[in-house]
Amino acid sequence: MENIETTDSKMNDVLEMQKNYFIKNGPPSLELRIDRLNRLKNLILNNKTEIIKSINDDFGNRSDNASLLSDIYMIIQSISYASKNLNHWTKSEKRSSNFPFNLFGAKSYIQYEPLGTVGMISPWNFPVNLSLNPLVAIFAAGNQVMHKPSEITPNTAALIKKLCDENYDEHELATFLGGPDIGEEFSNLKFDHLLYTGSSNVGRHVMKAASNNLVPVTLELGGKSPVIISNTADIKTSAKRIMFGKTLNAGQICLAPDYVIVQKQVKDDFIAEAKNVVTEFFPDIKNNNDYTSIINQKHYDRINELVTDAKEKGAKVIEINPADEDFTQQEFYKIPPTLIVNANDSMNIMHEEIFGPVLPVVSYDELDEAVELINSKDKPLGLYYFGKDNKEQANVLSKTSSGGVTINNVVGHIQQMDLPFGGVGNSGTGRYQSHDGFKNFSNARAIYKDVDSRWDKLLLGAIRPPYKQSIEKILKVLMK
Ligand code: NAD
Repeated sequence: MENIETTDSKMNDVLEMQKNYFIKNGPPSLELRIDRLNRLKNLILNNKTEIIKSINDDFGNRSDNASLLSDIYMIIQSISYASKNLNHWTKSEKRSSNFPFNLFGAKSYIQYEPLGTVGMISPWNFPVNLSLNPLVAIFAAGNQVMHKPSEITPNTAALIKKLCDENYDEHELATFLGGPDIGEEFSNLKFDHLLYTGSSNVGRHVMKAASNNLVPVTLELGGKSPVIISNTADIKTSAKRIMFGKTLNAGQICLAPDYVIVQKQVKDDFIAEAKNVVTEFFPDIKNNNDYTSIINQKHYDRINELVTDAKEKGAKVIEINPADEDFTQQEFYKIPPTLIVNANDSMNIMHEEIFGPVLPVVSYDELDEAVELINSKDKPLGLYYFGKDNKEQANVLSKTSSGGVTINNVVGHIQQMDLPFGGVGNSGTGRYQSHDGFKNFSNARAIYKDVDSRWDKLLLGAIRPPYKQSIEKILKVLMK
């Protein structure tokens, strides 16, 4: 790999080249944008076997089908959706003009223009999805891109660079490999917009660096997404859906259900059903390709330390280990699905984002206790409610805040192509996906065309000096 100075100067050169190209050529046509999206689609579909293999190599073990579902299928869906709607999205948007100018031919509208060059920094947990899916909205809006994928998944990052270099000119998309040092230099560049997906801690540094150049940011961060299980919920179905969400990618999902707050009367049923469904999904774990590894030793140790800390502070730890396997000796960093029953706020696991297959279970008597616990923490990326009581559901929604919500399931809102995705407060700012993603990476240019000269004296004459008495009458009317 090149040293940091070389990469830094290359990044600066590419940014300048992209900016000059944009000034010279103007916004790309609708056809070119569709062509960029089609190239993305073909790049993914023609190389999906290689992509899946590289993700598997980076994780140590990750199910091919899970990768197809989470890292491939979702992007193809986004591309189809954007391609179908792009013509409509790029049209100017009519707005009304003020009275009385509207009666004399004044026109107001919004034209969505590309921002220019968007910088993009991606994480490792869905290394293809989180690198290529945001490109859909960025390209649809007519922008150029500079990308830095995660160093934690080096095979996938190198493959992404190779495929993108083969399919795009450098003025359209340029990829730079490297770790935090390159990331730091990257986030100091004078982009027209910077999209960062990753942890809230690094997000702070990125926002600070971007602020030096007043570069606007979209931050897709993490957090602790809570699940409320009401005593009106169908517990068997709820447990199935929650444990699927918690074990998918071994819980290494920004939107993973982080902890459960379950109504006291149904707590034991939930625990029993959670054990049943995990046994159904994974009769064994260690050598089961369907069960994903933890990405590396650092994260493996971090998650195990959270479990040990909770145990030492009085939690009941239930390791769901259907084949009674020994997890102390293993080639891959696998952690079995684990419930932390009677978790409380003295435990680190109730403060840090878990990002692993471990699920704290807290119980409540009255709904307000669950709401209070959620509100004692930063606003999460997702919030999940399971139950059949509409009044209770409305109560939860009105008393809490989160980037998105799925009711009677987890993670589902990100899969809806017509819904925006993003966080609020500590879980992020800005949106991608859907029409909102297109707008997020566009400049909503406000355009006003004034009345023609025939009406100048009548409509504008009175507000220009030298002021006569008539202005007072006009001001009186205007301020009514
Ligand atoms: P991370 O913050 O460690 O790294 C993300 C990226 O930032 C990497 O490419 C890394 O090289 C780069 N980076 C590291 N230090 C940097 C610095 N000082 N300046 C600039 N860039 C720097 O995150 P991660 O461990 O890769 O991902 C896990 C986190 O990401 C979790 O918190 C998860 O919730 C979050 N996440 C959020 C979303 C979302 O869409 N909201 C999606 C996936 C993951």
